[in-house]
Amino acid sequence: MGDPVLRTPSDAIANPQSAAVRLVADDLQETLRHLRSQRGMGRGLAAPQIGAPMRMIYIEIDRPWFILNPIVTDIGDEDFWVWDDCFSLPDLLVRVQRAYQIEVVYQDLAGQRHGVKALGALAELLQHEIDHLDGVLSVDRPTGLNAFSYQQEWAQFHSNEGRYGEPELRVPERDYFIGMPAPHDSPPLLA
Ligand SMILES: [Zn+2]
Repeated sequence: MGDPVLRTPSDAIANPQSAAVRLVADDLQETLRHLRSQRGMGRGLAAPQIGAPMRMIYIEIDRPWFILNPIVTDIGDEDFWVWDDCFSLPDLLVRVQRAYQIEVVYQDLAGQRHGVKALGALAELLQHEIDHLDGVLSVDRPTGLNAFSYQQEWAQFHSNEGRYGEPELRVPERDYFIGMPAPHDSPPLLA
């Protein structure tokens, strides 16, 4: 969590087909697979998490998926609460608020442009990984009272809430003071 590379906005990838990009792509894939084999969980990893400050994400759910230079183009009308976990904050879960549906445009490793519309868990995952590219961690987005929990505490006290809340219409942005507990209707996160 304390590594400065995790807190630095990453650079756009100018040449997706360069050798440097290929090296990072291979390393990301290998590292995610290794972490999964160790911990039995993990769907995605962002390049800054392996020390490479470039805008690349690797997701593996049912197939390998490299996402370069992602840009969120739409965040829908609804948000939901998520207990966020992260390889860079081992053991710590943070309740965050995410858009329930997003649209993202990105490039693949050949430089081809794509668009994807994601809902629920996948939308949340993409937002989590894109946050990494901007130097943002879940600890920056605690939502609601008692938003931090170690894994074991989560299993004991919070797992009955489930990992994901129900989508709710996002309320208009409003001001509140830093240090005040975030209200349920806190401002949209990606606006
Ligand atoms: Zn993460």
